[in-house]
Amino acid sequence: MSYKTSPLTEPVYDYLLKTSLREPDVLRALRAETERHPHGGMRICPEQGQLMRLLIELTGAKAALEIGVFTGYSTLSVALALPHDGRLIACERNAEWPTVGQPFWRDAGVEGIIDLRIGKAAETLEALIVEGKSGAFDFAFIDGDKKNYGVYYEQCLTLVRPGGLILIDNVLWDGRLIDATDTELATSTIRTLNEKIHHDERVSISMLPVGDGLTIIRKRD
Ligand code: CA
Repeated sequence: MSYKTSPLTEPVYDYLLKTSLREPDVLRALRAETERHPHGGMRICPEQGQLMRLLIELTGAKAALEIGVFTGYSTLSVALALPHDGRLIACERNAEWPTVGQPFWRDAGVEGIIDLRIGKAAETLEALIVEGKSGAFDFAFIDGDKKNYGVYYEQCLTLVRPGGLILIDNVLWDGRLIDATDTELATSTIRTLNEKIHHDERVSISMLPVGDGLTIIRKRD
């Protein structure tokens, strides 16, 4: 029964949520709001948000990066787990999307630790490197535009301290990676990055079938 990861049927998934999900009311409310959004399918699933909060607790992370805010559900998940003197630099190109989440960030009392940067994430991250912030972050979540995933990975690897974590979302890309005829730029970028990380001696990794696939990466000392 345990020689491989069990396929998650709907009833088993419901059970998993029913018996393990801890989602603060403010997050639940933002999730409901996001589900009404035309691109609502882009948000992370609640158990993934919970895993991210646990990882932040485990590592004692204080300084975090997020690439791809969307409506700010993952942003709020991370911010709720950070200490009061923590800081989350949240990168988003679309100025409209985060306005959905901002009232919820305020309600949760974490608006002050979220530093929203509207613009191209690669430019925001590059500016942080130029400012001398290499190694200054404990945690990074990459969930932005897929065609730049390779760039974001290298930038985050520079910005995160040894022992810090990088999480990459959508690494299973709805199963499209195993279709060799799918050569769309987003697909091929994720495929290439997964293969690179598999053999990247700078990091320790675990790829989990959570949501659309999540790779947890620890920058080695
Ligand atoms: Ca995603």
